Amino acid sequence: MNKHAILAKLAEIESSIKEIRDILHEEASDEQELQAESADDGGEDKGDSTRIACPKCGSLKIIKHVDKAKVLYYHQGAPIYAKKGVCSQCGTEMPL
Ligand SMILES: [Zn+2]
Repeated sequence: MNKHAILAKLAEIESSIKEIRDILHEEASDEQELQAESADDGGEDKGDSTRIACPKCGSLKIIKHVDKAKVLYYHQGAPIYAKKGVCSQCGTEMPL
């Protein structure tokens, strides 16, 4: 490919990018409205944390652990372990 062809291609790509930017700019204003609507959703979900309270001290800081002593079943030869919760305050273990 000669330099001239490359530059022509580059100009083509740049105009495409400009087009895409314009489209994104239009969509961005729509998106901001959507985010404002979903903002009052609570947003308290922290993914991996559980809502189980420790039976001993009542702490809600329960950490999920994989209990490698307990195999639930084998999936394609790989063991699937049970999960247990461990209180981060007093260390009490509980089933999840
Ligand atoms: Zn505890």
